[in-house]
Amino acid sequence: ARLFEPQGIVNPLDILKRIYGYSAFRGQQQAVIEQVVAGGDAVVLFPTGAGKSLCFQIPALCRKGVGIVVSPLIALMRDQVEALKQLGIRAAGLNSSLTRDEAIAVRRALAADELDLLYVTPERAVTDGFAEMIGDMDIALFAIDEAHCVSQWGHDFRPEYRGLDCLASRFPGVPRIALTATADHHTRDDIIERLALGGARVFTSSFDRPNIAYEIVERDQPRQQLLRFLSRFKDSSGIVYCLSRAKVEDTAEWLSEQGIRALPYHAGMDRALRDRHQDAFLKEENLCLVATVAFGMGIDKPDVRFVAHLDLPGSVEAYYQETGRAGRDGLPSEVWMAYGMADVIQRRRMIDEGGAPDEIKRIERSKLNSLLAICETAGCRRQAILAHFGEAHSGRCSHCDTCLKPVETWDGTEAAIKALAAVYRTGERFGTGHVIDVLMGTVNEKTERFGHVDMPVFGAGKDLPARTWQSVFRQLLATGLITVDHAAFGAMKLEPEARAVFKRERQVFFRKDRPSSGKAARGQKS
Ligand code: ADP
Ligand code: ZN
Repeated sequence: ARLFEPQGIVNPLDILKRIYGYSAFRGQQQAVIEQVVAGGDAVVLFPTGAGKSLCFQIPALCRKGVGIVVSPLIALMRDQVEALKQLGIRAAGLNSSLTRDEAIAVRRALAADELDLLYVTPERAVTDGFAEMIGDMDIALFAIDEAHCVSQWGHDFRPEYRGLDCLASRFPGVPRIALTATADHHTRDDIIERLALGGARVFTSSFDRPNIAYEIVERDQPRQQLLRFLSRFKDSSGIVYCLSRAKVEDTAEWLSEQGIRALPYHAGMDRALRDRHQDAFLKEENLCLVATVAFGMGIDKPDVRFVAHLDLPGSVEAYYQETGRAGRDGLPSEVWMAYGMADVIQRRRMIDEGGAPDEIKRIERSKLNSLLAICETAGCRRQAILAHFGEAHSGRCSHCDTCLKPVETWDGTEAAIKALAAVYRTGERFGTGHVIDVLMGTVNEKTERFGHVDMPVFGAGKDLPARTWQSVFRQLLATGLITVDHAAFGAMKLEPEARAVFKRERQVFFRKDRPSSGKAARGQKS
């Protein structure tokens, strides 16, 4: 805003060079900036580390007035404001952590037109008081950061985000830009609809993180497995994620006993201690932070070399976000997860026993299944992750465990044909449970009511156990031969590629159940 020159047009590239010290725009940054500078709305879906912040900061500097940035976390806000001030940009945050005097100072600077960027929480942005406060001012733009928070499909739903569509009606003519690193199409559609961004240009870029190597192992002796993984990293920092606070504490303590510098971090810890651990993580070179997912959002540590998961996240989005904290600097980084049947049971129970309405539980279950499909794929992990975000990848990335050490597979072409036929013949209207009943020839109310008992596919899959069919469907989902329509009660639908399987032009291989899952199935403890 300071650079706004009524006569001359400010050149975004000049700002990039002069203020940020970078020589060129990355990817589509320039296109986004031009759109917003010209007064248009934008939806920006770029992965972590792509450089989304510049996409609203530079237009705010080019246009007349202050740029208002809606940001969900006070810690995140504080970091960004600090970084901007260091660049000489006049930024401030308005939030509940300020003292009375500090808040007054920010308001005064705003009124005096002395701010380029003002960060606010969504709660505040939707109030009448805030609208009044900025009502008479020139506003360069509204930026809605972490825009996936508006969607229940996102991994971090914030009801306050739902009110942000008021910005469109209260301030017509002020460009709005929504940004997120979450890319699945449900979230995308929700952002556009809920934030009234139907007229916005949508910018997407590849979600591939080529410098991240993926590995998912079956859990067997988790601590020893973790230790082996960590032994690959000397003098570098990373994050170990656990589901519970107790496990965070135990794991950090155990790692310390093993001679690894490890500190715990979770929301139940004393605030001062937690901040100290976060600071240590940001500053030190050789530290393993053991954390719940409370840690990480908005943490901009570029040289996180590894991320380990000792528990399964709840969705691909969450897994992608959490692993995405590795390697923001573009250097080789590794992410690793140990998962077992217990995770699946635990996650399902968390959903079932959670207080969410049935509709949300259904969404959560199918999100979990999508992640399981990636855990179980015999194909390239990267390909499966990107497929989840609707992005094609040729596979064989040579940078994930399944590419590096191919898993044992079985020729499942015949099984796949039966499975796909069962989906097709029953009208692509049912979820796995019912379709497996049809394949297994289970006579029940539903198979009778729909007349499925009389179909040729009824009982065609009796040669394999129901458990194998479950794995078959999950893997078909992972390879993209079928999709699940979450909006239609989890109904499976065939993708065009399935035709090649029917015609036997394409063979399908499935991952074999690994020995230790067999052990678990026989009721032995490891
Ligand atoms: P995101 O919000 O998309 O995760 P950031 O905006 O935090 O990404 O940017 C990630 C890093 O890349 C930051 O350190 C930022 O300064 C840097 N960066 C952004 N754009 C450029 C560019 N054009 N050239 C060089 N570095 C850039
Ligand atoms: Zn791969």
